[in-house]
Amino acid sequence: MADMDRRQFFKSWATGLAGSSLGMLGFSPEPVMAEARAFKLTRTTETRNTCPYCSVGCGIIMHGLGDKAKNARSAIVHIEGDPDHPVNRGTLCPKGAGLLDFVHSPNRLKHPEYRAPGSSEWKRISWDEALDRIARLMKADRDANFLAKTDAGRTVNRWITTGMLAASASSNETGYITQKVARSLGMIAFDNQARV
Ligand code: SF4
Repeated sequence: MADMDRRQFFKSWATGLAGSSLGMLGFSPEPVMAEARAFKLTRTTETRNTCPYCSVGCGIIMHGLGDKAKNARSAIVHIEGDPDHPVNRGTLCPKGAGLLDFVHSPNRLKHPEYRAPGSSEWKRISWDEALDRIARLMKADRDANFLAKTDAGRTVNRWITTGMLAASASSNETGYITQKVARSLGMIAFDNQARV
């Protein structure tokens, strides 16, 4: 005390008073921060998924509220990197870190839509309609343009008038099957969103 000047004395007194007052009121920074975290996620269900944006394919954990009871409205309330995923080990880039906005965006497309030739309007259609139409158009185009042999008689089995864009974030198994389907049809133009 003898070594303290007046300024140092008031500084230490004010710091002590503020700290003890907050403590008396129950404010201690560490428990308060821990409580906020636990409160937000404590009742959520964890679902593992893959970030849909780019070909890195980072693993994510989506935290959802709602236990599927009739009066509980389910909603995803938090998304973070999956620490157990071998690609990203819990990290996410800024795009992936903003995935919650993507999930809740009013502009998010949730159903197949169709715009007829010459029309300026998109019409919602069912998945059955969409898949039937795609299959029908693919078959018609393949029947009309499939090339089994070249003019020189070499077997090539090519279908070059239709291409496919697949998801680069698919699992190995999905990628394998997708390749099998596309190549067995003779499709040459095949890519994914890694370069988009
Ligand atoms: S978090 Fe970023 S790097 Fe990872 S897949 Fe999503 S967009 Fe790509």
